Amino acid sequence: MKPRSGKFSMPEGYCVKCKAKKEIVDGVEETMKNGRKAIKGKCPTCGTVMFKILGGKATPPAPASAAAASAPGKPPATK
Ligand SMILES: [Zn+2]
Repeated sequence: MKPRSGKFSMPEGYCVKCKAKKEIVDGVEETMKNGRKAIKGKCPTCGTVMFKILGGKATPPAPASAAAASAPGKPPATK
């Protein structure tokens, strides 16, 4: 008897909170709009939602937080 149905090895994802690779727990497979498959789950340590894209293409891990350089906008001179 097998408690779990199917052989589904836990995918690994990068937890931005733990800043480490973690096994994705409660992972569910989802298909995105563009047809790509992805696994959405949680970090076993902190519970942060993790998302791993399963694509045919090897996509490099994109940094979660890009340095959004917001230029100090000048106040609109209304005259
Ligand atoms: Zn974590």
